[in-house]
Amino acid sequence: MLLAHNYMRDEVQEIADITGDSLALSIEAARTSADVIVFCGVHFMAESAAILSPNKLVLLPRPDAGCPMADMVTAEALEELKAHHPGVPVVTYVNSSAAVKAHSDICCTSANAMKVVKSLQENELIFVPDRNLGRWIARFVPEKKFIFWEGFCPTHERMTLDAVLKKKSEHPEAMFVCHPESLPEVSALADHVCSTSGMYDWCRETHTGKFIIGTEAGILYKLRAENPEKEFILASPALICPNMKLTSLEDILFSLETMTPAVSVPEEIRLKAKQALDRMLAVPRD
Ligand code: SF4
Repeated sequence: MLLAHNYMRDEVQEIADITGDSLALSIEAARTSADVIVFCGVHFMAESAAILSPNKLVLLPRPDAGCPMADMVTAEALEELKAHHPGVPVVTYVNSSAAVKAHSDICCTSANAMKVVKSLQENELIFVPDRNLGRWIARFVPEKKFIFWEGFCPTHERMTLDAVLKKKSEHPEAMFVCHPESLPEVSALADHVCSTSGMYDWCRETHTGKFIIGTEAGILYKLRAENPEKEFILASPALICPNMKLTSLEDILFSLETMTPAVSVPEEIRLKAKQALDRMLAVPRD
């Protein structure tokens, strides 16, 4: 089964069996009866699929496709922070390595982070690694004290306030929607802030003809395909993640022909990381 993240190149999304966000794809990978998963995305995503599907072969066509934000925290550095805050639970965004997930209490996505945080009994929490997602959520949960990790997505942080203001002045009738990985001053300008899956729903359901899109450029492919009567404008030309653009059709063909390169997670780490993912999946959606 070929899975492609929403930020992949258009031609990769076109041949995928399923497109989606990282966690949705990993859940699909676990559900399918296919023995081999070709994960077109970045390394932490293939790890998540391997965590949830230990008996399947998970291939990552470009093993050099990493995530700078995921690399901003290590299990050792997280343990150091935890030592300063004994008993404080760690909420870890799925954009993180399996090792970091294994040292966390619960995972979250950009779509469910608020529900995950609210599900905790404790009034204090460590939020890892995205400071922008963490601070966005914290606004809606004032009763809890957040300890932020100062990680960030370089792609979303390249979308500056000036770039968004310029687009808004060029298209005053357009609605602006952005991802919570964006800078706080950018999110503050948005008509709506949501995950990539939320963006598909919101743009489909909102009765407006024009949208300024504040997330990685790959999302435009499906937005335009699903809403041919609507116009989608990228908020900034800098919204291109170099890692997400690495995977080519040739790389996928090579993976399928050679059944490499495979991604696996050591069993001890896998089991602990799975606990954090399972705890997240147990949080009621509504
Ligand atoms: S878009 Fe940001 S969070 Fe996603 S892989 Fe690229 S750097 Fe990482």
